Amino acid sequence: MQTRKPKISKELKEKLLDLEKLKYCFECGICTASCPMMELAPSHYNPRILLETIVLDPEKALTKPDIWLCGWCYRCYERCPQKLKPPEILLLVKTHAVEEGILEGFNEAAKIMGETVALAESCYYVCFHPERTKMRQEDFENVLKKLIKNRNKTKRQKIKPQGEKIAIIGSGPAGLTAAYELAKKGYHVTVFEAYPEIGGMLRYGIPEKRLPRKAVDDDVEYIKGFGVEFKTNTALGKDITFDQLKDEGYKAIFIAVGALKSRKIGCEGEELEGAVCALDFLRDVKSKKTVTIGEKVAVIGGGNVAVDAARTALHGGAKEVTILYRRTREEMPANPWEVKEAEEEGIKLEFLVAPSRILGKDGKVAGLELVRMELGEPDETGRRTPKPVKDSNFTREFDMIILAVGEAVDTSFLPKEIELSDINTIWADPITMETTKEGVFAGGDAVTGPASVMEGIVAGKRAADSIDRYVKGG
Ligand SMILES: Cc1cc2nc3c(=O)[nH]c(=O)nc-3n(C[C@H](O)[C@H](O)[C@H](O)COP(=O)(O)OP(=O)(O)OC[C@H]3O[C@@H](n4cnc5c(N)ncnc54)[C@H](O)[C@@H]3O)c2cc1C
Ligand code: SF4
Ligand code: SF4
Repeated sequence: MQTRKPKISKELKEKLLDLEKLKYCFECGICTASCPMMELAPSHYNPRILLETIVLDPEKALTKPDIWLCGWCYRCYERCPQKLKPPEILLLVKTHAVEEGILEGFNEAAKIMGETVALAESCYYVCFHPERTKMRQEDFENVLKKLIKNRNKTKRQKIKPQGEKIAIIGSGPAGLTAAYELAKKGYHVTVFEAYPEIGGMLRYGIPEKRLPRKAVDDDVEYIKGFGVEFKTNTALGKDITFDQLKDEGYKAIFIAVGALKSRKIGCEGEELEGAVCALDFLRDVKSKKTVTIGEKVAVIGGGNVAVDAARTALHGGAKEVTILYRRTREEMPANPWEVKEAEEEGIKLEFLVAPSRILGKDGKVAGLELVRMELGEPDETGRRTPKPVKDSNFTREFDMIILAVGEAVDTSFLPKEIELSDINTIWADPITMETTKEGVFAGGDAVTGPASVMEGIVAGKRAADSIDRYVKGG
């Protein structure tokens, strides 16, 4: 245990204040109101107060578990009037804590997470990013081991559920969290999952290098210990229907089917061999299927999925990987940290280009016809709309094209009483999470569109509380 008083140099204090203009924070609290971690652990985490501590008493901030609890979802940054980036400010503080050997906050944060969320081990890898602080692997693993040991002590092995039957559709972070919370409340919970394995995008999307299978396996085993039943290879709308679930006595249904439908770009050549959707590519690699990876790969898109697909192609043996994005670096929706790591690994980025045609030879991808873009007026999201530059077409050789231009929600299996939002996701009341069909609730990416693990967890917890009130007639 660290006993010496932590020190922060004058230079670091200056750097902290200057970083993203921390000294100009309005203290408006919008970050706190937007923060999923704050909703999960309100007595432990409040970004506005944490930023204030960093300004007023940075030495104290070094020892606090809070600095380790930010889930890197950037929701606060999107809404902050001053465009501050709390995850990056906290990274600087965490890195300094690690340099000084101050790890008590990290230890305490693991304890808090183990007590707060069922997916604590997965969150440690994919949300909190201790590795970015250059923490020694051994220190990281020791804390994880303690987290697993502590939570297994509290695990209720194979409890016999007594309460009403609840159906959860989809086993990603939202579905798993709702299942865990409802099982803890005594409900008889069954999770129906279309894929052969449990975990949603934790299992089939996020690359192994960033989230090892074992962490997902451990979290799933922990949840099974609360008596949750799983039916895999069972898709709602195909293998079971809403009516069947009702007839079998399920009192409420929670739809947490994610946003797994890859958008197409709608240009010629998408059907050629070697042109694949990013989610299919990532899923096949994670499922250990034989995947043919090209030598010269182009990834179309600028989000996190594009970056993960590019890195997976590179790690899988591609000689050259280029991400092509139609806006500029500033507009890239991908987490800037992931982009930086991708560039350090050798992935090239090209901005203000868009594909107009996928070129083929003998049925296989042979290249791309691209067009240069320029930015016009901002669209409804505030981002400037890219427009093609006249007569700027050019061609490039590639033997594999990965399309990562966004994910949508598959709503084809829903009955017509369940209405959709204006972004074509499932509409659910933001407080109760109930859809327009009585007794049917929805949450996670299926409602918000592609978001983050932490937001999925919050949705699952909120839905469980709401379903509990609904079943009890509250
Ligand atoms: C490549 C990639 C990288 C990402 N990286 C990060 C990251 O670093 N940090 C972060 O916070 N977030 C990240 N995310 C986002 C995060 O994984 C998602 O926001 C989160 O998993 C959403 O959880 P969910 O439970 O709503 O849905 P999902 O995790 O998508 O799970 C939905 C589940 O429902 C199942 N399903 C679908 N239809 C049916 C049906 N009809 N019947 C039964 N089951 C069905 C699916 O098979 C799936 O298992 C990433 C996502 C991807 C794709
Ligand atoms: S939203 Fe921005 S300005 Fe407001 S308290 Fe948070 S960091 Fe400060
Ligand atoms: S990045 Fe997400 S978890 Fe971190 S402070 Fe912002 S809203 Fe909260």
